[in-house]
Amino acid sequence: LLRVENLQKSYGDETVLRGIDFDLDRRDVEVIIGPSGSGKSTMLRCVNRLTEFQGGTISLDGESVMAMNENELRRRVGMVFQDINLFAHLTALENVTLGLRKVLDMSKGDAEDKAMSQLERVGLAPQAASYPAELSGGQKQRVGIARALAMDPELLLFDEPTSALDPELVGEVLEVMRDLADGGMTMLVVTHEMGFARRAASSLMFLDEGKIVERGPPEQLFDSPERDRTREFLARLT
Ligand code: ATP
Ligand code: MG
Repeated sequence: LLRVENLQKSYGDETVLRGIDFDLDRRDVEVIIGPSGSGKSTMLRCVNRLTEFQGGTISLDGESVMAMNENELRRRVGMVFQDINLFAHLTALENVTLGLRKVLDMSKGDAEDKAMSQLERVGLAPQAASYPAELSGGQKQRVGIARALAMDPELLLFDEPTSALDPELVGEVLEVMRDLADGGMTMLVVTHEMGFARRAASSLMFLDEGKIVERGPPEQLFDSPERDRTREFLARLT
């Protein structure tokens, strides 16, 4: 589904990604870990073209994301951020219908039906009419996930979706993500939640200084990492 080849990215003089290569098949759940500044967010942003890159190619089903219509790319690749960026003046339901109406040009009724079923999927049907200020952080983040799901994406990107949450709210968001993983959603997830990685990831990638240091099944990286750097990093996380 996704192929990243020799991806290179710099901001001015600072090289951030130094030749990243990996593939994702449908239903794969790839968890990306790595120190602050290693390029995790930048990599996700390259995938859905929120930022430009200088070298290499990223393709979805063989089609370069650079050649793709931006609306089509955003529909096919959903993103959930750390900062819960809902529109404050719109209800949960309206936050989810917005993209359906604007990007997919759906009628109001169809968009609301679809949005409602996505809110149900993340356990938030009762809060459909609530405004973001009336929701907990975990609930807001689940609205963000429903919003991404509503577009029927082929790939979902998550950038530290639980990092901004109070500890007691992390579990409900991870549970939704686990359900998606179990349901066969293809996901590329930056997270420090190693319980999620162990349970839900098909593969774990350790990024450092813009390179993939090590990648493999979570059991392998946790229990018998090949690189000392991976071992040291994981020892600090868990
Ligand atoms: P964190 O764990 O802190 O989120 P990260 O692995 O996601 O880190 P990135 O946000 O991808 O790291 O940043 C990688 C490098 O790129 C950092 O050195 C950062 O300062 C730099 N960088 C990121 N965004 C920009 C930007 N918009 N302009 C200039 N430099 C940037
Ligand atoms: Mg980041």
